[in-house]
Amino acid sequence: MSQIVLKGVSYSYSLGEGRSLKALKNLSFSIEKGEFVTLLGMNGSGKSTLAKLLNGLFIPSEGEILIDGLSTASEKNTFEIRKKVGMVFQNPDNQMVATIIEDDIAFGPENLGLKREEIVKRVDEALKSVGMEEFRERTTQKLSGGQKQRIAIAGVLAMRPDVIIFDESTSMLDPKGRDEIMDIARKLNSEGITIINITHSMEEAALSDRVIVLRKGRIAIDGNPKEVFSSELVDACGLVLPLVTASSKNLIKSGYDFGCAVTSEDEFVEGICKTLSK
Ligand code: ADP
Ligand code: MG
Repeated sequence: MSQIVLKGVSYSYSLGEGRSLKALKNLSFSIEKGEFVTLLGMNGSGKSTLAKLLNGLFIPSEGEILIDGLSTASEKNTFEIRKKVGMVFQNPDNQMVATIIEDDIAFGPENLGLKREEIVKRVDEALKSVGMEEFRERTTQKLSGGQKQRIAIAGVLAMRPDVIIFDESTSMLDPKGRDEIMDIARKLNSEGITIINITHSMEEAALSDRVIVLRKGRIAIDGNPKEVFSSELVDACGLVLPLVTASSKNLIKSGYDFGCAVTSEDEFVEGICKTLSK
């Protein structure tokens, strides 16, 4: 059984006066446990709506979403699904619920009604996992954006999720903060947590197992980064390819041999060297 299953899922926002906006249209796909999926698409293509459907914040207008076989539409599953699927949002300031960092991270487990020692254990583990142990008793003020996102991730980890969705979580960070968050995402993925990373960064996309591209509420492309970057739909989906990929595409026209879409600097240099040595 796949961890996440969507069957013919549509979602409409009600705009009042009988009007509605169909943000997602008939999506069917599955995600397996342990996948690292990047979700790309222009603004308004439906990425955040999909994220909110996956953790049961929204219920499909049509179709069904199953998380470990549990339908998000059934109210009796809501609590379990919120625990299983954690979300890290764009603005770290909006995710803090307490001033002292350990209280902030303990908020979720406290709401689960866990025993004190279990909560302390989870806070310890979560802080360690994001490399913020020494910040335990400090306040959330004066932290950098990257540190705040790490605390937000720790808060999600304290719920012991199976899936973490990052909704443009690196978009407000400087390059160092971005790298830190992506390093943590990859580490958590290597420990078995499924990652869904919503981003505009093609560099982040290049590092994932699978890239799903939404366009106007539908899946336009679904494949590994090489397949997606070489798709003819790249422009139509508003994707700006990484510099190495775009450059190699132009060089292929001039007779350079790159084999397939280039996703890293190493592959780019390899393709140039191979052609020049012929
Ligand atoms: P993305 O995250 O890819 O930018 P969204 O999922 O936020 O896209 O939005 C998808 C579509 O739904 C857009 O057309 C957007 O304007 C619309 N939308 C999003 N949130 C709401 C809302 N609360 N009410 C009405 N329409 C919305
Ligand atoms: Mg969004």
